[in-house]
Amino acid sequence: MNIEVDRERCEANGVCVGMAPDVFDLDDQDSLVISVAHVVAARESELSQIAASCPVAALTVS
Ligand code: SF4
Repeated sequence: MNIEVDRERCEANGVCVGMAPDVFDLDDQDSLVISVAHVVAARESELSQIAASCPVAALTVS
């Protein structure tokens, strides 16, 4: 499964970083970095919950 960020929407508030710092990070320019290209299927539920927690709905899990 893949997780993508809509950079037009992302406000770099770090909610997703706090929930899964091994997957998400913010760089020096406060741009969201997704550390893993493909997330193992076992984490789909967790990452879907994180995507739903993004206050501006910038994350898509597919
Ligand atoms: S929770 Fe949403 S707005 Fe916040 S850093 Fe993550 S993708 Fe961006």
